[in-house]
This record gives sequence, structure tokens and C-alpha cells, in this order.
Amino acid sequence: MSDHPAHAPTDVLVIASWNADLVCRVPRPLARGETLAAHAFEISSGGKGSNAAVAAARQGARTAVLARIGDDDFGRMALQLWTDEGIDHRLVEIAAGERSGIAQILVYDDGDNSIAVAAGAGLGLGAQQVQAAAGPLAACRVLLASNEVPAAATETAFAAARALPAASRPLTVLNPAPARALPDTLLAACDLLTPNESEVRVLAGLGEDAPVEQAAQRLLDRGCAAVVVTLGADGCLLLRPDRPPRHWAGHRVPAVVDTVGAGDTFNGALCAALARGQALEDALTLANAAASLSVQGRGALGGMPDRPTAERWLHSTSAA
Ligand code: AMP
Repeated sequence: MSDHPAHAPTDVLVIASWNADLVCRVPRPLARGETLAAHAFEISSGGKGSNAAVAAARQGARTAVLARIGDDDFGRMALQLWTDEGIDHRLVEIAAGERSGIAQILVYDDGDNSIAVAAGAGLGLGAQQVQAAAGPLAACRVLLASNEVPAAATETAFAAARALPAASRPLTVLNPAPARALPDTLLAACDLLTPNESEVRVLAGLGEDAPVEQAAQRLLDRGCAAVVVTLGADGCLLLRPDRPPRHWAGHRVPAVVDTVGAGDTFNGALCAALARGQALEDALTLANAAASLSVQGRGALGGMPDRPTAERWLHSTSAA
């Protein structure tokens, strides 16, 4: 159990994936049937939803995760992470007899990698678990999901949020990563969609040379209220119906250590800022700064800043 008091309202509720990242550092890709000595092995917490929840919590948001994990050592590792980060995990289902999700990652000397994901218990996160959390869902300020959780869970949660009275319903934010086809009903239930450059093109059904603006416009036409496209080192772009696009330039950073978790940091910090009532433009300024800090630390969680660090960085640098 987290140390959240039972009555504390939630700012950001994440319909979350979690997996153990099992990372082997090896010189080069293996040939079929080959055994190779690794330089190093590490286990760390991963999953876009869990990472984004950590980012939101570090930005000071009262954060909760709705997730499904196995009753194994990896599942206990997830609970420990959420406890350590002050994240409410009372909506997490521990699936008896099932394994938690894992990602088997090979990182090569040239920085490239190969990843096999076994989503495990996370695959069983469905509509029923979301429906059982109707009360907490209605009481949060921002609801965040990614495409790493089963579509039925996200669709049920966003539809439930949309059915609430407009004045009190949570904002719905979907990070459509990895890209998969999204039904129009889900797009119409999104206040904000946050794809990266390649995802926005896939979602729009356009080729890899299509302009990002054109791809985002297609998603707006299908009913999504706003699209934020993250552009890596080039920052991000906001598109809304009947308004000119607005660009936030990327922050120049002294050295990029690794970009794992940059998108998750962006989403978590964005949701935290929106939950405390910041305007979308201001929330994007903070998210862009927080994500640029995350690329300066190792792993998904290593560079994720707390709020004072992000605010200091924001005031000491200007976007490129
Ligand atoms: P991405 O998922 O790669 O589009 O990155 C998400 C966010 O992380 C971007 O919108 C930026 O705010 C930040 N970011 C990613 N890569 C870099 C970089 N090399 N330098 C500065 N900021 C970055």
C-alpha cells in the first residue's frame, strides 16, 4: 500500500503498463544459435504508464496507477517502486498464478537495441477492472493511458470519463504508443493525443514523408480535441481545430545520455501541470523542459526531474 490517505483526491490517474526491463549489454547483435558474453546486466522498472506515473508524481501530482501485475518478485518490484515514489497503487490487481510483464532488451555497443516484450499479467487489464474503479476514475483530474495497455481498458475508461458532467469530468490524455489503429469513438473521447512523429503518421494512415501537420489534422478531423506531436530534440507541436499550429522548440542539452523515457516524462509532467490547473500552453512548456532533462540521465527514471529541478532548468535555459 502507498502512504496516500484514503480520502486524498487523485490529480493524475494512469491506466498503466508495468514491466521489468531485463537489459543485457552485448557487443553486437547475436547470430541465430550463438551465445555471447554480455558486458553487463541490469534490471529496472519500465512500462510507459508506470514511467509516466513516476514523472507525474515527481512533479508533485497526487498520482495513482490502475494496473495488473503478477504475484511474483517482479510484481513486488513494481509495488516497491510505486511505494517509493509515493504513487497510490490501491487500484492495482495482483493476478494470482500469473507472471508480471517483462521486456528482454539487448543493447549493443553502437547504442542500437533489440527488445522482446512479454506483457504477462498486463494483458489481462480489461474493462471489468476499469469499471470496478468507477469512483476513483470520476474523482481524478487527469486520466492518462498509453497503447501499452489493452484497448478495452482505455476505451472503457475514456468513455466513462466522457459520460461524466462536463464541469467535473477528468481531462483524458492518450499517448498512442506504440502506434495502433484507434477507433473514432476513442479519438472523440480524447482531450489530448500525444503521438511522436512516426506514430502520428501511422495513426493517420500516411507515409513516412507526410508532413506532421497533415497527419495531426486528420486525427483532429476524426474528433480528437487537440494533438501534441513530440519531435525529439526539436521539441513539440500543438495542433487544435481552427487555430494555427504552435511549436515549442527543443531545449539544447549539454549531453544526451539516453532518450529512453523522454516521451513518458513529457506525458507525466504534462498531466501533472494540467491537473494543477495550468493552461495547456504553460503545461507544454514545462513538459518540454522536464523531458529535455530526462535525456540527460541514464534509463527511463534516472533523469526524470522533480518539480523544483524542472522549474529551475526552465528559467535557466531557453528553448533552442
Ligand atoms: P520524443 O518521444 O523522442 O519525441 O521526445 C519527447 C520529448 O522529449 C520531446 O518533445 C522533447 O521535449 C524531449 N526530448 C527528446 N529528445 C531530446 C533531445 N535530444 N534534446 C532535448 N529534448 C529532447
